[in-house]
Amino acid sequence: MAICNVCHNHCDIKENALGICMSRRCVDGSVKSDNYGYITSIALDPIEKKPLRMFYPGTKILSVGSYGCNLRCPFCQNNEISYGLDPKIMRRVARYISPKELVNIALSCRDDGNIGIAFTYNEPLVGYEYVTDTTRIAKEHGLKTVLVSNGCASKDIYTQLEVDAMNIDLKGFTDEYYRDVLRGDRRMVMDFIEYSARRCHVEVTCLIVPGLNDSDEEIQELSSWLASLNDGKGKKEIALHISRFFPQFRMRDRDATDVGLIYHLADLARDHLENVFTGNC
Ligand code: SF4
Repeated sequence: MAICNVCHNHCDIKENALGICMSRRCVDGSVKSDNYGYITSIALDPIEKKPLRMFYPGTKILSVGSYGCNLRCPFCQNNEISYGLDPKIMRRVARYISPKELVNIALSCRDDGNIGIAFTYNEPLVGYEYVTDTTRIAKEHGLKTVLVSNGCASKDIYTQLEVDAMNIDLKGFTDEYYRDVLRGDRRMVMDFIEYSARRCHVEVTCLIVPGLNDSDEEIQELSSWLASLNDGKGKKEIALHISRFFPQFRMRDRDATDVGLIYHLADLARDHLENVFTGNC
């Protein structure tokens, strides 16, 4: 039995069992990544799709995902690889790619506009060891690395990261929403963003779900807090992506977010931030 402290769940895991994310296992009394190198998705994507709008725009990035997640968002668009999954099936459908092999694949795509490797699709940090190992080799070969994360990782984990850019979700700005709907921890995400924004390029994404996080006040508070992080060094640097929700997975009881509302909330955010983008509109 061992406790995993990678994220807010602090799972107490019995020998040979998995934590909530279904991707970390207790082996011989310590918790190890169970999805290391098991890649379920790989694609050469435009960098804007991460989304990153202010980091090497117009380029592409080799994007990879494994399986497992530590949140329980009922509207997850990647639910097949994020949760409610059977790790045995995931391992069968995945392809094992070692960090070195992945770097070689990324290098072979350079002529197609590839600048590096993005860890995305599922939550990469439930398997942070693969991210850190691959990033180290990628850097030696001059590749950029990008992390797309929900931001629910402990300080011990996010302080080890040496990626060049991140897109971090800040899915709302109330503790209740994070706790009751997402099963996450807003404070942990805010600490992650605050730390990372001082060290690498950071953009933030907020998905607006009707009736849950769509008030004027909430987006004003969220964007005002993001603006406060810039703290005089390169004012208004953090870009915010405000995205539209679509009914899917376990949340089909409401309509897609009204496009007009997305534009309205983006305008409110622009009172605080210079770079606000709308998504899925
Ligand atoms: S990373 Fe996984 S096993 Fe570890 S605490 Fe979070 S949910 Fe539990």
